[in-house]
Amino acid sequence: MPKLFIPGPVQVSEKTFRAFCQPMIGHRSGDFKKLYERIHARLQTLFGTKQPVFLSTSSAWGVMEGSIRNLVGTGKVLNCMCGAFSDKWFDVSKKCGKDAVSLQVEWGQPIRPEAVRDALKAGGFDAVTLIHNETSTGVMSPLAEIAAAVREFPDVMLIVDSVSSFSAMPIPMDELGLDVLLTGSQKALAMPPGLALFSASERAIARAEQVKGRGYYFDFIEFKKNAAEFMTPSTPSISHIYALESKLDDIFTEGVESRHARHAENNALVHEWVKARGLDFFAPEGFRSKSLTCVANNLNIDVAAMLKVLRDKHDIVLDGGYGKLKGKTFRISNMGDETPGTMRALLMALDSALAALPAAAN
Ligand SMILES: *Cc1c(COP(=O)(O)O)cnc(C)c1O
Repeated sequence: MPKLFIPGPVQVSEKTFRAFCQPMIGHRSGDFKKLYERIHARLQTLFGTKQPVFLSTSSAWGVMEGSIRNLVGTGKVLNCMCGAFSDKWFDVSKKCGKDAVSLQVEWGQPIRPEAVRDALKAGGFDAVTLIHNETSTGVMSPLAEIAAAVREFPDVMLIVDSVSSFSAMPIPMDELGLDVLLTGSQKALAMPPGLALFSASERAIARAEQVKGRGYYFDFIEFKKNAAEFMTPSTPSISHIYALESKLDDIFTEGVESRHARHAENNALVHEWVKARGLDFFAPEGFRSKSLTCVANNLNIDVAAMLKVLRDKHDIVLDGGYGKLKGKTFRISNMGDETPGTMRALLMALDSALAALPAAAN
């Protein structure tokens, strides 16, 4: 199988797969509770929270929709939109029957704290949705500044998606005053898809208790009640939780800060390559993701041809741009288990693929 350098799902290690394949246990058994308990303190450390961390057997979207259903009552939700995932959150809010207001910026631009503050001044908001690292555009919005702006409005909940940035850099949930921090398994955590992790502030739980129509599967109150006994509301993907334990062993053996530093180093290597080849970044300086790079195709490379060479000759899969950015950009992930060594190998393969393209396209 070719190696994935797409920004999700990313390459999963043999070790993680082996952990995934351990024998089943009952999800109400003492063995399961011990498993959840064993991973819980480390999850709290990664989330930067004293609150319980919940395990949802769903992709991230389950919790993204669930956050809307739990925290938005009759008030409005402000959806900060700057790319494919954050734009979709607005549609999802409307599909949940909520009064959704869009704060749209051009793809490639970050969300600015002043814009969030200005929008919230209209009043009547229950929550804000924000994607920390917009995977489709490679843009990272300034989370701490945005969180501080939202905190000026005491009744407004801040829901943050960290699907492609979680554990790649510090996101201290309690310190930043985030109300929900959520992530998925198959991107920054380099696990198979199918599990989402999240935590909710005390205020968020108190809000959820007041909101009608939370449903069952993603009901935060159910998660909270069950997590108090190290259980989940329904039968979870136990295999994923085994894989998560293995991944946490990896993360804490490496050291959380070393993991962050490795991601920064991986990312810097890609940045150097982009500059050295005369390419541009899709995201402005200061707002570039640390876990992937969205390269602007200013050199008019035949991206489809380049991807084909990478796949056929180098056994590497790269992404050729999300949705309307197809061909105009390509994205290089440095998430998960990648190292400076594997990133250098990728960049060499990219050089060789570019050299193999017809000169006119170069
Ligand atoms: C991939 C992604 C999602 C969606 O994840 P699913 O696993 O498909 O639900 C949401 N947000 C961001 C930032 C993503 O990169």
